[in-house]
Amino acid sequence: MKQSILVTLLVVLFGCQQSEPVNILPKNQSQTDAAIASRIEAHMDFLASDFLRGRQTGSQEYNIAASYVATQMQQYGLEPAGSDGSWYQEVPLIKSTLIQESVKLSVNKGADQLNFTFIDDFITPANPISIEDILQGEVVFVGYGIDSQALQYNDYANLDVQGKIVIALRGRPYQFPSEVGAHLASGTTKSETAIKHGAVGFFQIHTPEMENIRKFESYQKYALEPAYHWQDPDGNVAESFPELKGSGYLSTETGAAIFELAGFSLEGVFTDIDNKLNPQGFALNIQLNMERQTQHENLSSPNVVGKLVGSEPLLKQEYVVYSAHLDHIGVESHSEVDDKINNGALDNASGVSVMLETARRFAEQERPKRSILFVAVTAEEKGLLGSSYFATNPTVGADKMVANINLDMPLILYPFGDVIAFGSEHSTLSSAVENAASKNAIKLSPDPMPEQVLFVRSDHYSFVKRGVPSIYLVPGFDSKDPSINGKEVFNLFLEKHYHQPSDDLQLPINYTAAALFTKVNQD
Ligand SMILES: [Zn+2]
Repeated sequence: MKQSILVTLLVVLFGCQQSEPVNILPKNQSQTDAAIASRIEAHMDFLASDFLRGRQTGSQEYNIAASYVATQMQQYGLEPAGSDGSWYQEVPLIKSTLIQESVKLSVNKGADQLNFTFIDDFITPANPISIEDILQGEVVFVGYGIDSQALQYNDYANLDVQGKIVIALRGRPYQFPSEVGAHLASGTTKSETAIKHGAVGFFQIHTPEMENIRKFESYQKYALEPAYHWQDPDGNVAESFPELKGSGYLSTETGAAIFELAGFSLEGVFTDIDNKLNPQGFALNIQLNMERQTQHENLSSPNVVGKLVGSEPLLKQEYVVYSAHLDHIGVESHSEVDDKINNGALDNASGVSVMLETARRFAEQERPKRSILFVAVTAEEKGLLGSSYFATNPTVGADKMVANINLDMPLILYPFGDVIAFGSEHSTLSSAVENAASKNAIKLSPDPMPEQVLFVRSDHYSFVKRGVPSIYLVPGFDSKDPSINGKEVFNLFLEKHYHQPSDDLQLPINYTAAALFTKVNQD
């Protein structure tokens, strides 16, 4: 800034203060939609700016974003609720990177052997708890690899997988309910199921059905990205599976080749599924061999936690938790485009900004009976790690969290006429959301895209796993502007901007819609 401009600015500023405080809105004015919208815009302008270089977990720029969130909370009159009376809860992380040349996979039936190429034919995650893995064993096909007493469904019935390697299809039976099904079909649940039945290796096959939802190509692209896990104070690594000596994700062609070597047809399994028959498991009677090496690095990144203490002596012991992830994916390493910064304007500067504005509004109004916790979590993009750490080690004490409302990637790109609350039917929160929506003259709609399994893809899932009733709230596809189709906007965003540098402030962000979304959130 040039000196002369600075002087002029100082004159203007002091001039204002002496005459009339034009910049300070009267209290009722500060709650107008326009005022809310402009504050959200200001938060997003900062959080999604190039200066913050995509808020990568563990980076200095992420820490600056965290500091911004903490000082905003402080300004609103919230109290710090992180560790040791601070605004922060440091999350100890371990970063694991595969040594590409070390990864080998083959199968053999007697002297017949097939060798597969890492990334082209299969991918495998880095192992956070071991620097070298060697896996060998008999292979058993286990259908979808799901065992659920509640749904009376067991792919492992009559199969002996003790000490063996299991191969499952990605996905789940078509008749499963959306959200329970998403939980059972997640890689984590399936790995746990495999371990429960005594398996030592776990692989999944990419299916044609999956290809329609997410291409194998998009997994290959990230095959060499480091994996992140959080560690407890004793050095135990969360969500790691020491029982599994190897795991991986096989392309459909690789799966078919393995079946063929064993004398079976994977195509036949897919035909059964097309005819609404559930796949049946069987021993493949072949050997699988896998090797991989991993490098490890320790780092840490903070969650930011602020609280607003409730007004009712007993109920204030309980906390309603708002969460929004502050991290994004940093700067592109593999890209030829000029703009390499993944600003993450909608993923999730928007969610954090809406949460901050929600906090400010709560702080300005009469206190609610229960206390409210606002948590900006780290490392969501690395596998919901910040929220998982917080839900497992809550700074307010276990069993004190009564509900979680998660904000992730609200697509505030059009005047939406409804909201979607993933998870609301599993708790008593459904009627609360319905009330909030109708108070703001919009509707609550059911999950319009169960195939995307959004229920397990954001931070509320960490709270669900700890038994905290949770919802993940986003604007729906209903558009009040007849010239805009909400579903098209959503699909276009997923295709052209999601996790790309163009998720930035040049998108046609509708801050009035953001203001409405904030009010629904709060009510
Ligand atoms: Zn994301």
